[in-house]
Amino acid sequence: MTATTLLQAPNIAPTGAPLVDPYGRTISYLRLSVTDRCDLRCTYCMSEKMTFLPKSDLLDAEELDHVASAFIARGVRKIRITGGEPLVRRNVTEIMTRISRHLGQGLDDLTLTTNGTQLTKHAAQLAKIGVRRINVSLDTLDPETFARLTRGGRVARVLEGIAAAQSEGLKIKLNCVALRQDNAKEIPTLIAWAHKRDIDVTLIEAMPMGEIEADRFDQYLPLTEVHANLERDWTLTRDDHRTGGPAEYWRVAETGGRLGFITPLSHKFCGACNRVRLTCTGKLFLCLGQTEDADLRAVIRGGGDLNAALDEAIGRKPEAHDFHIDAPGQAPAVARHMSMTGG
Ligand code: SAM
Ligand code: SF4
Repeated sequence: MTATTLLQAPNIAPTGAPLVDPYGRTISYLRLSVTDRCDLRCTYCMSEKMTFLPKSDLLDAEELDHVASAFIARGVRKIRITGGEPLVRRNVTEIMTRISRHLGQGLDDLTLTTNGTQLTKHAAQLAKIGVRRINVSLDTLDPETFARLTRGGRVARVLEGIAAAQSEGLKIKLNCVALRQDNAKEIPTLIAWAHKRDIDVTLIEAMPMGEIEADRFDQYLPLTEVHANLERDWTLTRDDHRTGGPAEYWRVAETGGRLGFITPLSHKFCGACNRVRLTCTGKLFLCLGQTEDADLRAVIRGGGDLNAALDEAIGRKPEAHDFHIDAPGQAPAVARHMSMTGG
């Protein structure tokens, strides 16, 4: 099927009742993982010897579209495609093209989180199907640190990808995980580099998800500390900008750019949670830091009632995550890696 015929597929207007959880939070944001695989092995995300799911377990493009459409019909207005690395899935643009038919018809925003390594190949197609902005994860500009942190990646490829995306008119935001041993000293340089290129940056605290080789206690760098350090050289003032996500934003007077802080550990933000996450095998996770899930693949392959399954699942959405990193050697809060749900 070509991109054009996919775009002519019928729309589904938001007709169903909104999805509201037991704490009165309306679900308007779906993060959709299209693969658990990745071409990098970031040390805080994956273990060195990850095993990946057989491709036959994955939802196909039609099934992913079916679930996404059901969410849109129930009021989801933003979908973020993620992974693993979403751009390593062979038919990722077919999947996104299918979902893009809802843009302006219930769906406000179709976007992507990527490590950027495949962006030179995909940027033009992403812009063509209506993606306006993407998040690129980048924790360092230093080639050696990047290679060590990602276990073999080349930062130059990511920088080329960012440039390609910008030249296609895509607005970029950088996501950077703050890591005491790897990039603590470099964070101001990364922010200044990005702001000079009209790229906003969001800093993220490392979360204890999945077994990895490193001790997360050694990696964890509270953003309260980063904020205080930045204020020694820069003037940070609160910025009202909201993206519907958990970040709180500040404006850096010296660079003119915007800086977000995502602080799941040092400051919880679950009261305003509006999101759920679907894995590439159709498992719906109701909270990033908890284990409650629902098997939507079984529902759609078994001919079950997807709407009823959504209601049942959202009715079990936990109130809050329970992340903390306060001593060496702690077990992760949840056994699954971040790469299963894509952040
Ligand atoms: N591969 C894509 C990427 O790196 O952007 C998408 C998936 S990745 C799992 C999504 C985001 O989660 C990235 O920004 C990554 O840095 C972040 N991440 C991965 N593991 C994390 C962890 N344990 N704590 C905090 N952020 C993490
Ligand atoms: Fe891959 Fe993204 Fe995880 Fe890094 S953070 S290993 S790029 S999924």
